[in-house]
Amino acid sequence: MSMTQTATLQQRFEAALMPNYGVPPVAIAVGRGCRVWDADGRPYLDLIGGIAVSALGHGHPAIISAVSSQVAKFAHTSNLFLHEPEVALAERLQGLLGRADARVFLANSGTEANEAAIKLVLRKQDAAGSGRNIIVAADHSFHGRSLGSLAITGKESIRAPFAPFGLSVRWVPYGDAAALSDAVRPDVAAVFLEPALGEGGVVPAPEGYLRAARSITAEAGAALVLDEIQSGIGRTGAWFACQAEGVMPDVITLAKGLGGGLPIGACIGVGEYGTAFRPGDHGSTFGGNPVACAAALAVIDAIEAEDILANVAKVGAWLKDGIAAISHPLLREVRGSGLWLGAVLTAPVAADVTTAARERGFLVNPVQPDVVRLAPPLILTEAEAADFLTALPGILDAVHAAGQASTKGA
Ligand code: PLP
Repeated sequence: MSMTQTATLQQRFEAALMPNYGVPPVAIAVGRGCRVWDADGRPYLDLIGGIAVSALGHGHPAIISAVSSQVAKFAHTSNLFLHEPEVALAERLQGLLGRADARVFLANSGTEANEAAIKLVLRKQDAAGSGRNIIVAADHSFHGRSLGSLAITGKESIRAPFAPFGLSVRWVPYGDAAALSDAVRPDVAAVFLEPALGEGGVVPAPEGYLRAARSITAEAGAALVLDEIQSGIGRTGAWFACQAEGVMPDVITLAKGLGGGLPIGACIGVGEYGTAFRPGDHGSTFGGNPVACAAALAVIDAIEAEDILANVAKVGAWLKDGIAAISHPLLREVRGSGLWLGAVLTAPVAADVTTAARERGFLVNPVQPDVVRLAPPLILTEAEAADFLTALPGILDAVHAAGQASTKGA
């Protein structure tokens, strides 16, 4: 029997790429809207969107047009020269934050946005001179894989093999305002927090936590850095999750959905943090790339023009309520907001649920052993969400039945 296209690609992948990801189960060949097709022509509803990235879905005409016309003009300048798309994007981000005194550094990924933020707060606090060189970060947080962003990532299993790092980090339990207050002493340069733990399993901050973090850091003279790489650009139904909480951080980092699939990250400093870098302090050859900036502008324009934030709030709430209404022995609860949900299971079978979903044509992600994450394109319709809701009990049944069979067999 001849091999499928997928199997052939998997074999070539394994022989040519490093083994850090394992071999993925699906080879994507084409996407349109919220649907993708694999190399063998099988269709899927994409409920993970490239991990909270494909904000406008796949093949959105605004991105196709913005990217193609920018490539046709010029694809790259380096930072020896400036160009209109980077200026326009930085202005748009200032506008979305409502802060004309915000200043933007453009990078290529979330990790790089956080790397810039780490350097920025150390520079602003003049860490060497003031002794304020501690960064406070949360258990179970995720900020990236470079040595700086990994140093402040609260997942021991991925950090330990690469320690020690050149940063001093004080850990706090996520969501505990009293513990944060204890940790933010005069030696602290900054507190890094996600508005909800994304990779940690879509765990929203308790009510009032971000506001408490804001006042604790303000009183102590430490920076509050909010990592909105996963939560930002509409994912929760607001442009930035912190806006729904009424919190303005000193620094905000973005990536993922910002480029709608093109690689871009942004580190935004507000007030004095916007101007803390001195010439020569930081840089990136590709950062602020005009093609990525054109895509990001198209994403922001389309979110506004198509009233996509309202769609996120409406379809997200509908999907969340629909999952919550399913009574199943494997389903404990659903948490999150907007189109950023975690279905929490009663057993560590998220990988099996993901496989069963895939076999029925739905792409989801086992973000934790017992949590299945949904982070679909922000244009998901109620009809598409309904397809998943209809299939979910059967998906859970299949995993439950297999679990019972293996318990009996044991
Ligand atoms: N910060 C958060 C909150 C993330 O979720 C991620 C990626 O999952 C990152 C940072 C790292 O971003 P990237 O993978 O683009 O480097």
